[in-house]
Amino acid sequence: MWDLNVINQMKNYAELNNVPIMTESGIRYLIKYITKNNVKRVLEIGTAIGYSAIMMCTADPELMVTTIERDEKRYLEALKNIKKMGLEDRIQLIYKDALEVTLNDYYDLIVIDAAKAQNQKFFERFEKNLVEDGTIITDNIKFHGLVDKKPDEIESRNLRQLVRKVKDYIRFLNFNKKYETEFLDVGDGLAVSKRI
Ligand code: SAM
Repeated sequence: MWDLNVINQMKNYAELNNVPIMTESGIRYLIKYITKNNVKRVLEIGTAIGYSAIMMCTADPELMVTTIERDEKRYLEALKNIKKMGLEDRIQLIYKDALEVTLNDYYDLIVIDAAKAQNQKFFERFEKNLVEDGTIITDNIKFHGLVDKKPDEIESRNLRQLVRKVKDYIRFLNFNKKYETEFLDVGDGLAVSKRI
């Protein structure tokens, strides 16, 4: 049985400590996707405190997750949460910058939910680890609604640059002939890129 107390504690911790975690609808979509497509191995870039990795495990008792986090405090918190849920054997947590991680395993699904300006780099670094008919799902493709705004409507220069990067990534996905990408209005926007 899943310990709802631990799950609620994680959500509270995230809110209190300003840790961004996936929306409920984003999580629901991932769980449905995993079940429907018989996903057994997931690679996640951006663990934070382990919330989405743990929630994905609720989809299927055979699911294995490898997840990467570069922030020490969040990594330690994730480690604690994974232990509390008894998922040490199913979730492999890597404490490192994902852009310095090299993996040799294959995954049915890759979830990108880390630094938004680096989405394309994560995509290009890990697509070699995707099974032939696998899928890459990227979160926050609407970037809190800012992607639909004109640049002069966004005050901060840093934010404008970030939004431009997210738009560049959308273009990269649209022009990538190896994948068919669907953009979904789920949570903060999901890009679901299926290899064809
Ligand atoms: N997927 C998590 C969830 O829904 O529970 C939320 C992840 S949070 C949106 C993004 C996380 O990615 C942050 O904790 C951040 O430290 C981490 N991150 C950003 N860039 C990274 C990188 N290059 N390598 C590893 N982790 C990274």
